[in-house]
Amino acid sequence: MIRERHLFGPGPSNPYPEATRALASPLLGHLDPEFLRIMDETCEMLRTVWGTTNARTLPLSATGSAGMEAAFVNTVHPGDVVVVAVNGLFGQRMTDVAARCGAEVVAVEHEWGQPVDVDRVLSAHPSPAIIAAVHAETSTGVRSDVAALGAGKGDALLLVDAVTSIAGIELRADDWGIDIGYAGTQKCLGVAPGLAPFTIDDRAFERRVEKPRSWYLDLGMLGGYVGEASAKGGQRTYHHTAPTAMVASLHAGLTRILDEGLDAVHARHQEAGDALQAGLQEMGLELFAAEGSRLPELTTVKVPDGVDSAAVRKELLERFDLEIGAGAGAYAASVWRIGLMGRNARPDAVLLVLAALKDVLG
Ligand code: PLP
Repeated sequence: MIRERHLFGPGPSNPYPEATRALASPLLGHLDPEFLRIMDETCEMLRTVWGTTNARTLPLSATGSAGMEAAFVNTVHPGDVVVVAVNGLFGQRMTDVAARCGAEVVAVEHEWGQPVDVDRVLSAHPSPAIIAAVHAETSTGVRSDVAALGAGKGDALLLVDAVTSIAGIELRADDWGIDIGYAGTQKCLGVAPGLAPFTIDDRAFERRVEKPRSWYLDLGMLGGYVGEASAKGGQRTYHHTAPTAMVASLHAGLTRILDEGLDAVHARHQEAGDALQAGLQEMGLELFAAEGSRLPELTTVKVPDGVDSAAVRKELLERFDLEIGAGAGAYAASVWRIGLMGRNARPDAVLLVLAALKDVLG
């Protein structure tokens, strides 16, 4: 029997109960008309949370990192210049993925904990094919100004990681000029890990690689599987066996979010994050992310001098069934990451994590 945990780390978060219950629904075949209806509705709801009208908006059958792979492998032609804003682990991962796809990567490095410097990124190269950035850096708890990158991108495509921002903070793909975006289900969407909500506009799709080196993530082929078929009423073609239970779960999570209202969900994340950050500071702890760019859904806090970071996390897990995250990269032992995402963005979760941390720190 698996014990129930409070998943207050950088993800996964505790799913919405509706999303969990949907996993136990009768399993549908992946070409069952009832499943196709669920898939169509899921794509439509994903358009709403992405803030897009892109026909090609779909849940890829894999985690967020596959969304990243799909984004680059479909759009990077050999030798293309790809400017990547690196202000944390996931920006770093982008440079690796883009390079493997044959890009000439221009990495614009930032101090971790700081938001992306838009002017530096936009002036890093005179004519990049792609500019890539992470909207919400989960490794540092920092939000960056994607809209400003979109306003200055020129002819480049803007590729954005929205894994930790989607359904947690404002995200307006079309208004902000995002051409290609990927996300994950396990954070503010409040669904188990396993799908990568993905969107690509016509401009990026027309420039795509004709035959990408990935068969599974080839968006040209996936069009027949879902996006274009649902948008144009076309026939579905078999590409791979859709994970029907996961899609049903995402459908339930999205329905829950949109019933509450996207603005209300964002406000709930903001209130929980503000309360947590105020409470941590009242305890005398210091926040890591730069003031003014702190994510409400993912708070980074410095481990006090002389405190064993891992021992505290172990005690929280063992005594309170409460998970928080270690820091990432060089900050593994000196920073904690506390996520209040999706269902967990609630005042009772704030009180619980503050009280448990106070108790353990003594
Ligand atoms: N990008 C960001 C910002 C993330 O936080 C994560 C996961 O934590 C990923 C990408 C990778 O997603 P996954 O772990 O679902 O493959």
